[in-house]
Amino acid sequence: MCIFCEIAKKSIPSYKIYEDVDCYAFLDLAQAGVGHTLVIPKQHVKNIYELDEATAGKLFEVTCRLAKAISKAMNVEGCNILNNNGSVAGQEVEHFHIHIIPRVANDGNTFAFKGHHLTEEQFKEVKEKITSILKEYN
Ligand code: 5GP
Ligand code: ZN
Repeated sequence: MCIFCEIAKKSIPSYKIYEDVDCYAFLDLAQAGVGHTLVIPKQHVKNIYELDEATAGKLFEVTCRLAKAISKAMNVEGCNILNNNGSVAGQEVEHFHIHIIPRVANDGNTFAFKGHHLTEEQFKEVKEKITSILKEYN
């Protein structure tokens, strides 16, 4: 049983924000910012690795529209669009979802980790690795 499938089917109640044939959007129970919304495909897809590009396009179209509407409605200065894939990345619910998190100044909701420092050589190595594998996806 997948909780987000149940939500999309309305077997489990949710605060629905939007719905169409392919997508469903609802308020996250834990509001990282007021208006925090999750956008999901109605079809069960575990994470980005299982997501097809056509559905990804539909989901991001909806995310784009909702980010604007939510930000205007909540009167916020910005928002984070966030998506976790796999438990190592913090994914808790194994049904693909995009977070829209409204943000205001000094809300304390920060990304603390400021990143790895790579040398120019390391940047080049990473770029080469990714661009060579990317050819397999064209
Ligand atoms: P993840 O960590 O997988 O990216 O995010 C999962 C999100 O789903 C969390 O922010 C959590 O609050 C939310 N969530 C988990 N169960 C439910 C639920 O039953 N209803 C709603 N509306 N949100 C849920
Ligand atoms: Zn599901």
